[in-house]
Amino acid sequence: MPLNIAMDGPVGAGKSSIAAEVARRLGILHLDTGAMYRAVGRTALERGVDVRDEAAATALCCELDITVSHEADGQHTYVNGEDVTGLIRTPEVSMAASTVAKYLGVRQAMVALQQKLAAQTPMLVDGRDICVRVLPNATVKIYLTASAEERARRRWLEMNQKGAPDTYEQVLEDLKKRDAQDMNREVDPLRPTEDAVIVDSTEMNFEQVVENILAIVKEKTA
Ligand code: C5P
Repeated sequence: MPLNIAMDGPVGAGKSSIAAEVARRLGILHLDTGAMYRAVGRTALERGVDVRDEAAATALCCELDITVSHEADGQHTYVNGEDVTGLIRTPEVSMAASTVAKYLGVRQAMVALQQKLAAQTPMLVDGRDICVRVLPNATVKIYLTASAEERARRRWLEMNQKGAPDTYEQVLEDLKKRDAQDMNREVDPLRPTEDAVIVDSTEMNFEQVVENILAIVKEKTA
């Protein structure tokens, strides 16, 4: 079985950037599973499918061909062959992704795809249900978190640098709304599993979080 590292955590904990850097230093691939739910959410918005309609969202998901490829600049996500990587980071798509991610049929399709990818090659997989559902036998399990205020502050700074007009208060409100939806859904809600190491990055900088996780990986794989 290839080395699998599972990483879960709430919105804005820095999972994607931290996971990408940790994977790079370990020389393994990084799979951002959130991008796959985002691809479904974005396609629903684009096609006018009501994301609150479970049957419609699930039917849409089942007919889509979602694939990922790992390129020089990181993961690219495709829907029916179209590269949607640059189109899935808006606040609307974030919320739509969180809504379609509540549905069992959508989750089953995504989990199957993720497990297939992780079985092929050593991989660090990040998301919300990786420790409990996608890779229950992962060698290393990490739950990366930070206070809601700090996560919102980081996200707001990042969005601001890209020219987004959102205020800190709006970003914090959106983040809490999405956290609540992800943590209170019926199917595989986000929560730290007993066998996961909790990394609270509230008081840490990027490099400290990366080093911390690399130390955990070293200890678990020794
Ligand atoms: O990680 P990211 O913020 O890109 O994920 C977008 C949404 O996709 C999350 O809010 C969550 O609802 C959903 N998701 C999930 N399970 C995963 C990854 C993401 O439910 N493994």
